[in-house]
Parts: sequence; structure tokens; C-alpha cells
Amino acid sequence: MPKKPKPTAVPAVRRKRLGRAVVGAIGMIALETAYMRKSGYAVGLQTAVRCRAGHLFTTIWIPGASVKAVRLGPVRLQWCPVGRHFTSVRPVKVAELTDEVQEAARLQHDARIP
Ligand SMILES: [Zn+2]
Repeated sequence: MPKKPKPTAVPAVRRKRLGRAVVGAIGMIALETAYMRKSGYAVGLQTAVRCRAGHLFTTIWIPGASVKAVRLGPVRLQWCPVGRHFTSVRPVKVAELTDEVQEAARLQHDARIP
């Protein structure tokens, strides 16, 4: 007697759509990471960013992942630890910063969560 397949909670068509959505999201994150790295931004745990008021600090900038910020493409809305205000921040290209300025930015780090 042939075994009857177990009924699953999610139908096959929905699983296929979900799989495509997950693959698409991973692809978009990979594209964003590749674009930012190619453009000269150091994405990761020590990304130098500048707020709208010009304050420079480092933050954790992982494409596709943010708990403490509202992501708007290349801009994020988050807390600035230097000016102590909620503002928009943009990553700064590493080549635009001198070693001293990079070190100063490293000393000003926001919360250690992405
Ligand atoms: Zn600021």
C-alpha cells in the first residue's frame, strides 16, 4: 500500500511563492552590499556615517538588517550619539576620511545592535 503524503500546513503553491520571495530578498541584500562596497563604503560593524547636522560617528550598517534604524535606501533614520538627536544618516566613503577623522569617528559609536 503506497504511503500517503503527509498533509502540510502550507500548500505547495504558497511554499513556492515564499521560497521565491526569500531568494529575491537575499538577492537584493547581496546586490545592495556589493553596490555599497564597490562604491567605496565600508559596510559592516564599523561603518562611518554622517548625520544631517554633519556629525560623524560609526554604526553597524548591515544591508537588509536594522533594528534601531528606519531604512530608506542609502539613508537611515536613527539616533545620532554625537548630537544626541534622531536624524537621517548616510554612510561616508572611506577614501574621503583621513586616518585621524576615521579614528575620531570610531570613538563615537552608537548602540551595538544593527
Ligand atoms: Zn548628529
